[in-house]
Amino acid sequence: MNKRLKIFLIILLIILLISILIITTLKVINNKNEDEETSSYSETAVTVMKDMDLYNEINSKEYSKTIEVLLEDNELKEKYLDDYYQIDYMNIENFSSTINNLLNKNYDGEEINYIMKNMESDIDILLNMEYIDILAFKDISNFDINNIERYLNYQKENEDYDLATVVTYVNIGLDKEGYSEYTEYTLEKAQNDLTILVNKYHKLPDNYEPDDLVALSYNSNYYLREEAAEAFESLTKAGVLDGVIFYPFSPYRSYETQEVLYNRYVQRDGVKAADTYSARPGFSEHQLGLAVDVRSSSLPDNLTPEHYKWMLDNSYKYGFIVRYPKGKQHITQFIEEPWHLRYLGVELATKVHNSGLTYDEYYDLYMK
Ligand SMILES: [Zn+2]
Repeated sequence: MNKRLKIFLIILLIILLISILIITTLKVINNKNEDEETSSYSETAVTVMKDMDLYNEINSKEYSKTIEVLLEDNELKEKYLDDYYQIDYMNIENFSSTINNLLNKNYDGEEINYIMKNMESDIDILLNMEYIDILAFKDISNFDINNIERYLNYQKENEDYDLATVVTYVNIGLDKEGYSEYTEYTLEKAQNDLTILVNKYHKLPDNYEPDDLVALSYNSNYYLREEAAEAFESLTKAGVLDGVIFYPFSPYRSYETQEVLYNRYVQRDGVKAADTYSARPGFSEHQLGLAVDVRSSSLPDNLTPEHYKWMLDNSYKYGFIVRYPKGKQHITQFIEEPWHLRYLGVELATKVHNSGLTYDEYYDLYMK
């Protein structure tokens, strides 16, 4: 071989070796940089994931604040790694331990997100109970996860009710005895909201008195709030045109009047019986000035079946509903009262009429 060629080949070989060395070195340096730079996690988190030998796995996936917080809290459990990615980070107390506890209870990511977003009360309630299929309730529009314990207890006592019924009844308050727990409206709310729900779980202020009471044409001592009074005149006229004549006999009643009335019934029949047909003071729709009892003759509490049927079929057109219909005592907590009308305005009364629901149910489902 020619000497020059030999030298040339040796030089070429050396250049080649140097090139390989340089490329390799560059690659190593580059990799090292990638390690440090592509991790979006905090230094503490990176340290922990390296200790756990999860560095590559975690960094091959998209950044997750949930993962970062778990690492920083030293609460990351490898077996739940995939689940963590489904869980949205939320700034709540004990975030890491809460999601681990829920995962231990077999809740999945979707359920945990739902729980954390909607539960205002202590999530610990769920941790003290067996796993609950939360998503089975989720499609029920008035489901409130904060009532979950009450739903489950009520369901146990009423096995024939479906979930939607359980939810509505508990929301109304029916899992508790009437008057045992109630919310009290403000004077302002009572005055300004004609659609207000008054029942054994919703009380009016003792001193509430509507500021727009007007006398009914039938009797100048009978009052209703202005809008309800006008509507009642129209209802009465419509009845006359259909040959259905009825008279008001108990419209607006003050707190004091209701008190006298209720106490008289209690004396006569005892509390238990009185509570089925007379509201305690503060809990009567009559105090609203938006309720009126009607009768077909001079006898109180008397509405003939024909008149009652006419009322059921027509009163909503003038803004009234029959508030305590037949077969609904377990919801309204009052016996059937054909004579008791509640004013809601034509639009709402029509909706309630068409729904076939009591106002207690309708209110929970559509008015909250
Ligand atoms: Zn009444």
